[in-house]
Amino acid sequence: MKLTGASSSSSAAAAEELDIYDEIEIEDMTYDSTLQIYHYPCPCGDRFEVAIADLRQGEDIAVCPSCSLMIRVIFEVEDLPAEEDGESKQEKEKV
Ligand SMILES: [Zn+2]
Repeated sequence: MKLTGASSSSSAAAAEELDIYDEIEIEDMTYDSTLQIYHYPCPCGDRFEVAIADLRQGEDIAVCPSCSLMIRVIFEVEDLPAEEDGESKQEKEKV
């Protein structure tokens, strides 16, 4: 875990007009404890993915890497599984 936050994509633009395919409760998603991601089947045959680290930072959008569809994850940060090995750094809130 390094301190680089924006590694995946340059998400500088305001994430307001996203094309959300659906809203899914996190209970309906599958948690992969190895990859530390939640995933959910996408109609294209692939799956939506979102990292639990992103969820902890307030991100609630899961993206399918194949078709770029997005879903909004309905969750409470307190309901996320406890972080096993990452107590060292405080996450900074971006509001
Ligand atoms: Zn897809």
